[in-house]
Amino acid sequence: MTTVLITGANRGIGLEFVKQYAGEGARVHACCRNPDKADALKAISGDIVLHKLDVSDFAAVKALGQKIDEPLDIVVANAGAGGKDTGDFGGYDFEAFSNLLKVNTLGPVATLEAFGPQLKKAKGKFAAISSQLGSIENASGFAPAYSTSKAGLDMAIKSLAPLFTQAGVAVGLFHPGWVKTDMGGAEAPVTPEESVAGLRKQIAAMTPGEPRLVAYNGDVLPW
Ligand code: NDP
Repeated sequence: MTTVLITGANRGIGLEFVKQYAGEGARVHACCRNPDKADALKAISGDIVLHKLDVSDFAAVKALGQKIDEPLDIVVANAGAGGKDTGDFGGYDFEAFSNLLKVNTLGPVATLEAFGPQLKKAKGKFAAISSQLGSIENASGFAPAYSTSKAGLDMAIKSLAPLFTQAGVAVGLFHPGWVKTDMGGAEAPVTPEESVAGLRKQIAAMTPGEPRLVAYNGDVLPW
């Protein structure tokens, strides 16, 4: 049986990951900030274990890592924030900017640290959901705070990946496409179903070694 852990599992791309993995019979550890309000998540049938987790509460991430005592085949660090609270350059709210970095950059690092032992036991796969907006080569000036948080995520995870290679754990960064969710908006061209079907395929194809930034459709993107 495949065992999967997803962060930010209550809506959007994370919720769709739970639907698809649970739908194919995997056991899913679904993590979200407010399990009490996660009605859509609770409506999914399958072998799903709910956990309360704010990924910017690093002590809580570590504690959950100590609580889940089984090998994990796949960990998807999906939880992320869009950064609309940071304001614009010239009037940045640096408290909000720091929180964005905590959620988008450090949250996945804490997740990798906490669940590394379970991934090693399974020779599993760690997928961090990044964004093409984090590509420094393609920096456009759009959403600089969010883009910075994702560029930092890419560097952090790529730098840590070699620590997992020998243990047989694959580590990768993924762009889900521009997806119709609360974050992506109604005009986004890709549905969560299409995005996650593609991401699952790319995650399944990962091998230990040099991580890359891969889009849901298999395109390899520049860092
Ligand atoms: P949504 O806004 O629809 O969902 C975001 C999810 O992250 C929610 O479950 C939210 O939980 C959770 N989350 C936010 N902050 C925290 C936190 N501190 N701790 C735990 N969970 C948290 O976004 P998407 O589903 O679209 O995004 C998922 C991922 O994909 C993100 O990493 C995003 O950056 C990335 N992405 C999305 C794109 C798009 O077009 N949609 C494009 C590129 C990347 P809660 O309900 O509690 O707020």
